[in-house]
Amino acid sequence: MLHELTLSALTANLAAGKVSAREAMQACLDRIDAVDDRVNAFISLDRDDALGQADAADAALAKGDTHADKPLLGVPISLKDLFCAKGQPVNCSSRILGDFRSPYDGTVVRKLRDAGAVLFGRVNMDEFAMGSSTENSAFGHSHNPWDLERVPGGSSGGSAAAVAAQECFASIGTDTGGSLRQPAALCGCVGLKPTYGRVSRYGVVAFASSLDQVGPMARDVRDSAVLLGAIAGQDPLDSTSVPVEVSDYTAVLGGDLKGVKLGLPTEYLTDGIDPEVRAAFDAAVKQCEVLGAEIHEVNMPHTEYGVATYYIVATAEASANLARFDGIRYGERVEGDDPFSLYCKTRGRGFGEEVKRRIILGTYVLSSGYYDAYYLRAQKVRTLIKRDFEQAFETVDVLITPTMPIPAFKAGEKTDDPLQMYLSDIFTISCNLAGTCGISLPCGFTSEPKLPIGLQLLGKPFGESKLLQIAHAYEQATPWHNERAAL
Ligand code: GLN
Repeated sequence: MLHELTLSALTANLAAGKVSAREAMQACLDRIDAVDDRVNAFISLDRDDALGQADAADAALAKGDTHADKPLLGVPISLKDLFCAKGQPVNCSSRILGDFRSPYDGTVVRKLRDAGAVLFGRVNMDEFAMGSSTENSAFGHSHNPWDLERVPGGSSGGSAAAVAAQECFASIGTDTGGSLRQPAALCGCVGLKPTYGRVSRYGVVAFASSLDQVGPMARDVRDSAVLLGAIAGQDPLDSTSVPVEVSDYTAVLGGDLKGVKLGLPTEYLTDGIDPEVRAAFDAAVKQCEVLGAEIHEVNMPHTEYGVATYYIVATAEASANLARFDGIRYGERVEGDDPFSLYCKTRGRGFGEEVKRRIILGTYVLSSGYYDAYYLRAQKVRTLIKRDFEQAFETVDVLITPTMPIPAFKAGEKTDDPLQMYLSDIFTISCNLAGTCGISLPCGFTSEPKLPIGLQLLGKPFGESKLLQIAHAYEQATPWHNERAAL
């Protein structure tokens, strides 16, 4: 079936004239009609615009444009609801933005359009990307396609659910503390967080500016490599993007793992890991050894402070970033008798509970008297965490860990206990604090019910090629990426 193809298989078919971009787009729309009332991945969708873009791609193909120049020509891709795309609604799964539509294309959106992508549909997320389950959305929960009672992970949960349910060929999301890798793990997709500075964030609504990074959610490693190549690169409109050359990430795929040094951080392998997740992880490490990798134990002594450090830095930055949604500059206004009551009413009505919790936490850790004890200290610990990575990378090429300590949990299971929810980010957060790159890919399933398990690889800064090469070698030697959720 057309909607089951990988992105790379679809472009091969489009190039050969075996399918049209319109047929590919229509296949996604039909699939959405068939399953999205159960999955709830899409929060808005303009069908006419989607088919119009597909027709334009078909016209470009007919006049001789090729995938060599436009690697995503005719490929339907969905966007997490925080990317500015001209004319499309941008809600960040919040109420506060009302009926805002973006007047411009952000850089990633422009690059995707330049590469020929058909950008259709806005997918669900945790409000302003704060969460690990997509339950913090003003548009209702999304559901895990492998078990609809369970969460798809978050905050790019709509992206992972849509890819796993085969409602689009790929999706673009963001990762501030794990938001691409974690839902990828829970839904059986490949989620890639590039190095901080690799991809422009111009036109992406900010959560925590020193941590946020844009990346692809895809069906397999090759698709991730194609997508990263399309969106990466320095951008004069984002001063945090870095002038490192963008290589052909697909060129490194193929081959085995001979001579590759994989680091196993002992601090990650604690008792808290679900036994089936642990067994799948151990088997994955063995598989890498069979493929030629050398396994070395490494120490990351500051791992245990990752969650606390992250939830200080991220909330502090969020409290500043979200100040602009005040009903005057941005945000749907609720009138008040004076400016103060206008702010209170607008923000009180517009933001959900988790966003408010984070604004309060962030304001607290930045307030005079507490700044040194919390924010400044967190910044120091962040440096120590970064050093853990630098030291580990002196002896190994890439770190190998589980992505999540547990498989997908049931909706509602952790909503009353924010700390439990935060702790599920333990393996993904440090990578963002260190500013380096990471990928999650499938490494097995639990038995009853059958739920995907994710393997995480963490690479050196701007080491995306190495990461993709290793991930691809493992993926091709295992059957997991061929499995599809039966909906
Ligand atoms: N789960 C983490 C949080 O709630 C990470 C979210 C993200 O990466 N956007 O902050």
